[in-house]
Amino acid sequence: MKPDTEVSGLLLQGRRVTGVAVNGTEVSATVVVDALGRRTRTAEWLAQRGIDEAKPQSSDCGVVYYSRYYRLRDGFELPDGRWFLGPRGDLGYMGYSTFPGDNRTFAALLAVPPGRPSSRALKEAAVFEAVMATTPAMRQWVNPEGVVPITDVLTMAGLRNSLREFPHASVSGLFPIGDSMCHSDPILALGLSFALRQSVELADAIDEQPNLDEAAAAFRERTNPLIRERFDFATQLDDQRLRMWNGEPVDFTSKDGAYALFTVVAGGVAALEDPDVFRVMTRRNGLLDSLRVLDDDHAIQSRIEHIFRGVAAGPRPPQGPTQDEMESIFENAIGRAE
Ligand SMILES: Cc1cc2nc3c(=O)[nH]c(=O)nc-3n(C[C@H](O)[C@H](O)[C@H](O)COP(=O)(O)OP(=O)(O)OC[C@H]3O[C@@H](n4cnc5c(N)ncnc54)[C@H](O)[C@@H]3O)c2cc1C
Repeated sequence: MKPDTEVSGLLLQGRRVTGVAVNGTEVSATVVVDALGRRTRTAEWLAQRGIDEAKPQSSDCGVVYYSRYYRLRDGFELPDGRWFLGPRGDLGYMGYSTFPGDNRTFAALLAVPPGRPSSRALKEAAVFEAVMATTPAMRQWVNPEGVVPITDVLTMAGLRNSLREFPHASVSGLFPIGDSMCHSDPILALGLSFALRQSVELADAIDEQPNLDEAAAAFRERTNPLIRERFDFATQLDDQRLRMWNGEPVDFTSKDGAYALFTVVAGGVAALEDPDVFRVMTRRNGLLDSLRVLDDDHAIQSRIEHIFRGVAAGPRPPQGPTQDEMESIFENAIGRAE
């Protein structure tokens, strides 16, 4: 769709969609795919026609992300290390991560719980860089000698996991895909994969079922299990992580403790030690397998527990500042920036 093209409403005959209004012009269609992203106005347009849609299910991600993009200087190569794609980790009260990009660029990200006033200073580049400088894993990539920032610090707040019931209030011919149907905590990076999988499943469902209601049922059957399990997982993970960041005792070392966090923290560590765990975790995180590939495998869960205990008991490289030290970093960097 061209950048200046705006969809402003749906055309309906009873409970059947017959097209959309585009730039004030009515465009007929037998099938309408709502790919308008997470701020889609479809529910509002249906409500205007007296069709009330169930509200999407939704849960708070409990996190604010601060990210900044960098480009590598000529001749500099990002160091490789013991990680999947790039450095990432958790300090117990906040997290950090990297996202490799195209054309010698990458994003560095800091994740903090909402409502911690000092963290708001992270939107200042000087404060963000001061934190990078004291977090050893991140310092390997966010190294001023090797990279230059190409953006300001970008804030993502008010994030929620969201899952829309489908079919849309039983409106024939109307299909949501991508973020308009479901979006989840960006740290899981599921959005593009969801959208691509749904697009293929929708095309196949319509191809195989010319009756649009039957196609909708087939589409739901093909996509709902995948999306539902990831929505539930994101909801549990976000809740457990927020409680840990806020100082509650949360056990991520045991499959019988905070299970979602266990799969990410202990599972992530064990995957770097054991090829079988690596295969399970990589396929699971990358949507090649259902979450059940680990949830149903108690032997691998026990192996993760065992490996994690061994790693945790051994000597570990410094992770980063304590929470008190981090507060001082914020204060000092704010002082210098003023
Ligand atoms: C900062 C950030 C980082 C991310 N990182 C990752 C990642 O690493 N991996 C990953 O998988 N996902 C990531 N995501 C999520 C990913 O971008 C989304 O899941 C994906 O873009 C969803 O695609 P979509 O087509 O459903 O919606 P969108 O990409 O949001 O596209 C919807 C489009 O519809 C347009 N639109 C909306 N309303 C109208 C209207 N009324 N008329 C006309 N056009 C309209 C919008 O302008 C937009 O162009 C990230 C998201 C953000 C914000």
